[in-house]
Amino acid sequence: ETKHLSKHYQVGSALRGKQTLRAVDDVSLAVRPGETLGLVGESGCGKSTLGRCLLRLTDITDGAIEFEGRDITRARETTLRPMRPRMQMVFQDSYASLNPRRRVGDLIAEPLRVHRGPNGRRTRSEISDRLHELTNLVGLPASALERYPHEFSGGQRQRINIARALALSPRLVVADEPVSALDVSIQAQIVNLFMDLQDRLGLTYVFIAHDLSVVRQIATRVAVMYLGSVVELGDADTVLHSPAHPYTAALISAVPEPVVGLASRRTLLTGDVPSPISPPPGCRFHTRCPIAQPRCRTDVPALRDLGDGRQAACHFPLN
Ligand code: SF4
Ligand code: MG
Repeated sequence: ETKHLSKHYQVGSALRGKQTLRAVDDVSLAVRPGETLGLVGESGCGKSTLGRCLLRLTDITDGAIEFEGRDITRARETTLRPMRPRMQMVFQDSYASLNPRRRVGDLIAEPLRVHRGPNGRRTRSEISDRLHELTNLVGLPASALERYPHEFSGGQRQRINIARALALSPRLVVADEPVSALDVSIQAQIVNLFMDLQDRLGLTYVFIAHDLSVVRQIATRVAVMYLGSVVELGDADTVLHSPAHPYTAALISAVPEPVVGLASRRTLLTGDVPSPISPPPGCRFHTRCPIAQPRCRTDVPALRDLGDGRQAACHFPLN
């Protein structure tokens, strides 16, 4: 759970002046046990940074963050270390995330060697048993353990990454664009694997994606981000069928081939995303919003409840 979470970076040089990049700005949201929260938005909107903040893979600038009821906002690595097994991340780039010189078995076993088990250090045979369980779980042949990452296709490598993330039986998995680099036919298999694993293991997911059709398949709730802030948050069906925020509506109509089940209202997104270094005043979306009013240029819309279990940050919500 985050409360008014912000992550800012100082950019620029001493000579030309330092500026503040607001990668994540004032985000308050809760991830519920067992759900899949889809985190969507254009690239550069802060989704990945928020994902990394949730797992405290980076320092927090402002606000607070709790994991399993415990405040971890300023926790040091020594405090976080025993919690790490329960919070894991799966990344997009399966090449970059797997050391090419190590066998798959070693890669998946690494977290098992680094972290102690409930009975202390794990024995060789405990690790070997667990490796076989894990390959089985993600649909890899046991022979995969002896091979190297480059011998596998993108989809298979993502299965390796998932096995590695699951090695320590996490409760929360943040998956950052885990299928974006894969062919569409393979995407569906990996999304299905994520869903199957969730059912079997009771996992909680934060699933980051820019592809709304993928999010629609897997997410139970959706958070839409724009320039570092959450502009809409609610049940996936509600948000994707009847978006309240004009930005959500625009994202949905930007899906190239309208996906059955997504709202089909045409709202065209024009212009570039403004810089997160100097975001527009008032509503940050006003420079691109088709229904902006004078008030939108000065008043910041707060994320507020719309009464249907959904929140939106807009003075003139659509639904
Ligand atoms: Fe558009 Fe105004 Fe709503 Fe912002 S507050 S999304 S500019 S209508
Ligand atoms: Mg990203």
